[in-house]
Amino acid sequence: MSLLIELIRNLFRKPVTFLLPAENLPVPECFRGRIRISDEKCIGCSRCAKVCPAQCITMVPDQKEIEVKGKMITRKSRPRVNVLQCIRCGLCEDICPTDAIHLTRELSPSGPECEIEEG
Ligand code: SF4
Ligand code: SF4
Repeated sequence: MSLLIELIRNLFRKPVTFLLPAENLPVPECFRGRIRISDEKCIGCSRCAKVCPAQCITMVPDQKEIEVKGKMITRKSRPRVNVLQCIRCGLCEDICPTDAIHLTRELSPSGPECEIEEG
């Protein structure tokens, strides 16, 4: 009998699960998600690649003129991050001299592709 009562009660209760992807999950302030790299700020110094404990950042050739403190410099390479190896430690963000690399609160995509870079 109690099982029947429980069954009837559950018919009128809201579901306890989230309706992903239609419904967004609340993301905590401290969440370390997708890495974004500003193509306009990165000077290609390789510090992020050197400090990365998971060795998931590789520098790839990419020549570009970048303005740093009013002076133009020619960047020769830029970082590429392997999402599946990244442990979200945040060291790359801490060491970057131009504030170009960030761990955002966005959920990372699945698959082996590198993180999306912004302009
Ligand atoms: S957050 Fe990821 S990419 Fe950055 S240093 Fe840590 S492991 Fe490497
Ligand atoms: S993201 Fe920052 S630390 Fe990494 S290469 Fe660019 S400027 Fe240097």
